[in-house]
Amino acid sequence: MALQVYISGKLFDKEDAKISVYDHGLLYGDGVFEGLRSYNGKVFRMAEHLDRLWKSARAICLEIPLGQAALAQAVNETLAANNIKDGYVRLIVTRGAGALGLDPNRTSHPQVIIIADHISLYPQEMYEHGLEIITASTIRNHPQALSPRIKSLNYLNNIMAKIEGLQAGCQEALMMNHKGEVAECTGDNIFIVQRGALLTPPLDAGILEGITRDAVLQLAAAAGISTAERTLIRHDVYTADEVFLTGSAAEVIPVVKIDSRKIGDGKPGPITRDLTARFHELTRQ
Ligand code: PMP
Repeated sequence: MALQVYISGKLFDKEDAKISVYDHGLLYGDGVFEGLRSYNGKVFRMAEHLDRLWKSARAICLEIPLGQAALAQAVNETLAANNIKDGYVRLIVTRGAGALGLDPNRTSHPQVIIIADHISLYPQEMYEHGLEIITASTIRNHPQALSPRIKSLNYLNNIMAKIEGLQAGCQEALMMNHKGEVAECTGDNIFIVQRGALLTPPLDAGILEGITRDAVLQLAAAAGISTAERTLIRHDVYTADEVFLTGSAAEVIPVVKIDSRKIGDGKPGPITRDLTARFHELTRQ
């Protein structure tokens, strides 16, 4: 049976899952989204993802045409319709179709799309041996231009940096903010380990408030590891004992080389390994 995609209340075969070319989501990237994971038939931190989706929508003055409970149910039903227990869910709300021109008031019917599928961002090998990344010259969006807190359909800022990474032979790229501080990677948050302490940039570095980031901070604190949200510069990353990235799709992945420099001893470190195991236990329990 074809993969079933939910669009605004109905399920369609993947080939027939289509929306208008006049949708401002396509025309202008005017919309918001979430990426969620399902483990063993249960969506991980569904409430947090819905909360972030609603905040993103609120930030762009977009009214989501159903409630959180109804959307949660639609996500679960789409997973069930596709018989997916361990998978990835892409939840999208577009501005809807309308007249040409930016004016969001000249659109109607925001479209709610749910794609339940599988995702593998990085090869398994990289989880075991670590990822090599570069720092991109493209800086993260200035928070006063387009806040990185908004998970919007306009991801070109991240894609520009991703292209830099790919052209350098790397699957991820680290982005600085307009002040030259470490922000985040193109689709993942970053953590470093410095003398046994776990550090990650604060939200005001201009980053997405990652749900995996929050989970890892909580896991580390519960494990007695000292944690802090701290402004980091490239020097801190280069001289860190360990570096890893977090994201719903990526989960926890070690970084062993940045800009051709070895991090620590060039192997995934003990705190990274420990937190990876704890994260697996939390998600697969
Ligand atoms: N930063 C960016 C820019 C992202 O797009 C994502 C999600 N792919 C993350 C961080 C990680 O967020 P989460 O843990 O909520 O998936």
